[in-house]
Amino acid sequence: MNRREFSHKTVRGAAGAALFSTLPLSSLGCQNQDRKLGIALVGLGAYSTYQLAPALQDTQHCYLAGVVTGTPAKEQQWMQRYDIPKANVYNYENFDSIVNNEEIDVVYVVLPNAMHAEFCIRAAEAGKHVICEKPMAVSVKECDAIIHACNKAGVKLGVGYRLQSEPYTNEIKRIVREKTFGEVRFVSAEAGYRSRGNPEQWRLNKSLSGGGALLNMGVYAIQGAIYGTGQNPISVSAQEFSTDPDYFKDTDESITAQFKFPNGATGNIFTSHSANVNRHYSAFDNGWLELNPANNYGPLAGRLSNGQELKFAHESQQKLQMDDFAKHVLSGEPNRAPGEMGKRDMMICEAIYQSIAEGGKTISLDLGRMGIVE
Ligand code: NAD
Repeated sequence: MNRREFSHKTVRGAAGAALFSTLPLSSLGCQNQDRKLGIALVGLGAYSTYQLAPALQDTQHCYLAGVVTGTPAKEQQWMQRYDIPKANVYNYENFDSIVNNEEIDVVYVVLPNAMHAEFCIRAAEAGKHVICEKPMAVSVKECDAIIHACNKAGVKLGVGYRLQSEPYTNEIKRIVREKTFGEVRFVSAEAGYRSRGNPEQWRLNKSLSGGGALLNMGVYAIQGAIYGTGQNPISVSAQEFSTDPDYFKDTDESITAQFKFPNGATGNIFTSHSANVNRHYSAFDNGWLELNPANNYGPLAGRLSNGQELKFAHESQQKLQMDDFAKHVLSGEPNRAPGEMGKRDMMICEAIYQSIAEGGKTISLDLGRMGIVE
């Protein structure tokens, strides 16, 4: 029995009742725990090819059931490599007929940022649960539209924030939450890499990316500032730096931003397409913690002011992330990266761009605990 047959039988066997039920599968609660969700990847670029599809060979609660691609040559390759039936292969035009496909439970949108909203909304309207890659979209308005579509269709929505399922990141959250070193006073988070590839790539084209370093890597630094303090910022002031305007014609190259938090703590973030930066630091009344590296595919590494080295076994972050989302759908476990979190981060990105446009002016943020998953 090959992987697809096995997965299919696991699905249909364990949740056989669902075949005769008018209830959506996701409403069956704990009956669903042995069931594997079928995921369809939309967009078969680098992230799908080298991270998500391999991770889906190891996931326990979901499997690669289908693909959606705009490149016909990839259809055969993916069908053969992953034993995907032709009926589970779609292109951008016939994608909406996925509504009729019982083997696909979740649509995972892995397209250029400006295409996220359209495909997430189409997936929700087809009755599929949605995972949307980061950044969730290119504007708060689009994030709202995705959230609205998922709520209206009664489907779950998660953002592809792999670090939310990652053990070092979750250890930081625990230390902050339990005030192991007392009150947090300062956070610093850096996320970026030096990019000098094809100048025609979509990440440098604002109409496809929505922005440069900030929307690509900056969202990791924003997330670090938030989980490194356990709070959402109440204001931000930001600056943009350009050293290579010929290459970065359309998108931001490097950005710094300073946050204020409700308890009086402050924070700095730095993001860049010109510098390899990958670090997290939180300072408390009685100590500090550091992750270095903090946001690549791992293994991450961390240490504490008391001399302790953080050590966790390495597992694929993408595997952990997709299994966590599947468990959320199947048995109501917490959604570690809900749409509200993606929207919150986009609100912060918009405030950062506004501050830059207004010469570094301090912009107030009214986020409450929005997007913070306890
Ligand atoms: P990529 O350039 O490697 O792939 C993009 C895919 O979109 C390709 O298959 C391409 O054919 C398709 N596409 C459709 N229309 C397109 C158009 N008009 N222009 C360009 N490509 C088009 O990109 P990627 O690195 O796979 O990134 C895809 C998404 O995944 C982005 O939103 C990115 O932010 C996100 N991503 C997330 C992580 C993470 O760690 N969570 C890592 C990498 C990428």
